[in-house]
Amino acid sequence: MDATPEAHFQPPPGDDARLAALRRYRILDSLAEQAYDDVVKVASTLCGTSQAVVSFVDETRQWFKASLGIEDEETPRSIAFCDVAIRSPGDVLVVPDASTHPVFRNYPQVTGPDHLRFYAGVPLVTPDGFALGTVCVLDSQPHELSEAQIEGLRALSRLVVRLLELRRGELESRRQLVERELTTQSLLRYQRELEAQNTELEEEARRDALTGLLNRSGLQRATELGWAGTGPFSVAVLDLDHFKRVNDTLGHSAGDEVIRIAAEEIGRGVRGGDVAARYGGEEFLLMMPGTPLAAAVTVVERIREAIAARSDLPTPVTLSAGVAAGVAGRHAPAQVFQAADQALYLAKRRGRNRVELAPD
Ligand code: GH3
Ligand code: MG
Ligand code: MG
Repeated sequence: MDATPEAHFQPPPGDDARLAALRRYRILDSLAEQAYDDVVKVASTLCGTSQAVVSFVDETRQWFKASLGIEDEETPRSIAFCDVAIRSPGDVLVVPDASTHPVFRNYPQVTGPDHLRFYAGVPLVTPDGFALGTVCVLDSQPHELSEAQIEGLRALSRLVVRLLELRRGELESRRQLVERELTTQSLLRYQRELEAQNTELEEEARRDALTGLLNRSGLQRATELGWAGTGPFSVAVLDLDHFKRVNDTLGHSAGDEVIRIAAEEIGRGVRGGDVAARYGGEEFLLMMPGTPLAAAVTVVERIREAIAARSDLPTPVTLSAGVAAGVAGRHAPAQVFQAADQALYLAKRRGRNRVELAPD
């Protein structure tokens, strides 16, 4: 039979729950901390030993959070005195001379160059009863502990558990803080999305579905914003000629297509800052801030020619327009619009397919 302790190692029953309890402190492989270093200093002084350790027993190893007089950071669980100690959470394991102990005398740290003889370990027991590791003292000489020293070790073990609980509280509040921050951020993101959707819906409500130009309510909104600016501005009213005939001869949907194509050219003809709206069925309005009359006429002429030149119209269509200009602050836009509308009437009377200027 194999006499090495490794060969006989078995985790105790219920060790999974103990390991889960250990994980929630997230102590394994954490950085050194003064408080734990102080505990091992006090433990070795108290007990008069050359070595002291605060150890935690993981699935297959014991890991040292703090140690004095020992080089290793961890050792296999199968040869750990501490693993034996934590199997009786309520007891203090004292081994005065391991070389005479029936089990421990076979451990490699006892038989080998470490020459370990003395061990005393107090389990670190959580409030819910799990022994996670120990506070222990060790020596290469056989040794005894007084009741007072054992009591002192117990007190140190309680202190370490207190440190662990504080650590867990800190981790938990940090987690809550991060969670709250994330919740706030996602709420803010959600709010921004809603606002963007709202803006989009409002924008949609202001546009005419057939042409994409502003509708009457969009036009009203646009004119509320002091569109005329400073200096000269122009207004043009555009109307398709004999449009009723298109509907009557080719049907309503051909009429719609004509309106859509005309609107496309109107949208293409205006500049940024201009306002183009579908004002009525086949009537359009252009408002051109910073644009004197002559320049506005050029714009509208170009649109008229562009529509007449479209080869994809269901039937040839022409456009008449009236243009008027004013000076911001001196002429009310409504007054200039009236003048442009009268000029349109003039264009119709003078034979259609033309742009007329409002008389000064
Ligand atoms: P004029 O040259 O004098 O402007 O003649 P017109 O036939 O264009 O004059 P009118 O304004 O009397 O007719 C406009 C017609 O446009 C009347 C209406 O049936 C039609 N219309 C209005 N809105 C729409 C629309 O959205 N789609 C279609 N297909 N027709 C429309
Ligand atoms: Mg018309
Ligand atoms: Mg009309």
